[in-house]
Amino acid sequence: MKRKTIANTGFASGGVTCKLGALCFVTSSVLVDSFVLRNPLERKARKRYRSKSCMMKTSDILQNGRMLPLMEEFYTLQGEGHNMGLAAYFIRVGGCDVGCRWCDSKASWNADLFPPVSADEIADRAAAFPAKTVVVTGGEPSLYPLDYFTELLHSKGVKTMIETSGAYLLSGKWDWICLSPKKNAPPKMQVLQAAHELKVIIQEQNDLIWAEENASLVNERCLLYLQPEWRVSEKIMSWLTDYVMQYPKWRISLQSHKYMHIP
Ligand code: SF4
Repeated sequence: MKRKTIANTGFASGGVTCKLGALCFVTSSVLVDSFVLRNPLERKARKRYRSKSCMMKTSDILQNGRMLPLMEEFYTLQGEGHNMGLAAYFIRVGGCDVGCRWCDSKASWNADLFPPVSADEIADRAAAFPAKTVVVTGGEPSLYPLDYFTELLHSKGVKTMIETSGAYLLSGKWDWICLSPKKNAPPKMQVLQAAHELKVIIQEQNDLIWAEENASLVNERCLLYLQPEWRVSEKIMSWLTDYVMQYPKWRISLQSHKYMHIP
C-alpha cells in the first residue's frame, strides 16, 4: 500500500497567518522555534490563539466537532508505545497551548493556521485504508469535542486511538488512550483514570519523579512507558534502561518511526 500524506495547506484566517503558516509548515521545528521567537507577527498570532482556544471549542466553525482544524493526515505505522508497529491512519489536528520546550510538532500549535475540515470527509478517507484504525494526535486533540468524530469512525468499523497530554477533559469514545502528561499542564484526573497507556517523555533524571507521580494516579490496568526525548536519547539511555530494570513495571518506548524514516 502506497503511503499517502495529505497536508492541510489551505489557509483561511488572513494574509499574515497564511504566510506564517506556509513558513511553519515547511520548516523544521528548530527553525520554527527561532522564527517564532524573532517574529512579532507570529507571537501576536499565537497570543490571539491562546486567548481564544477555549472559545473555539464551542464556535460555529467547529460545529460541535463536525469540523476539525486538520493539520495533516497520513497512513503510516504507529512508531511509539504499546502499539508500536501497528498500521494506522494518523490525523493531526492543529492547536496546542501546552508549550513543551522540546515539542517536535510546534508547527501545530496555532490552530488558526489550519482551516476546519469536515469530520465526515476525514472519516471517509480513514475508513478507506486497510488498517481500519485511526490515531488522533496534535497539537492537543482534546481541545475539541470529539464525540461526533469517534461515533462516526466506529460506525464505519474504524478503531479510535488518541494521543493526548490530558491537559483538558477528553470527549469521545476511545479504543485506546495514550496519555503523555506534560509538567506545564498536568493531566486531568478523568484522563489519568481512563488511560490505557501512560507514556512519559524523559529528558533528565528529575523527570522520573514526574513519571512516578503520574503512575501513582493512573488506573491499575494502565501500561507504563518511559520514552527518551529524541535529542538526548543516546545520552540518557544507559541510566534509563537501568531504571526500568530496577522498576520493571515500566517499559521503554522508542520513537521507532524515526529509525524507520516514516512520518
Ligand atoms: S502537548 Fe504535545 S503538541 Fe503540545 S507542546 Fe507538548 S509535545 Fe507539543
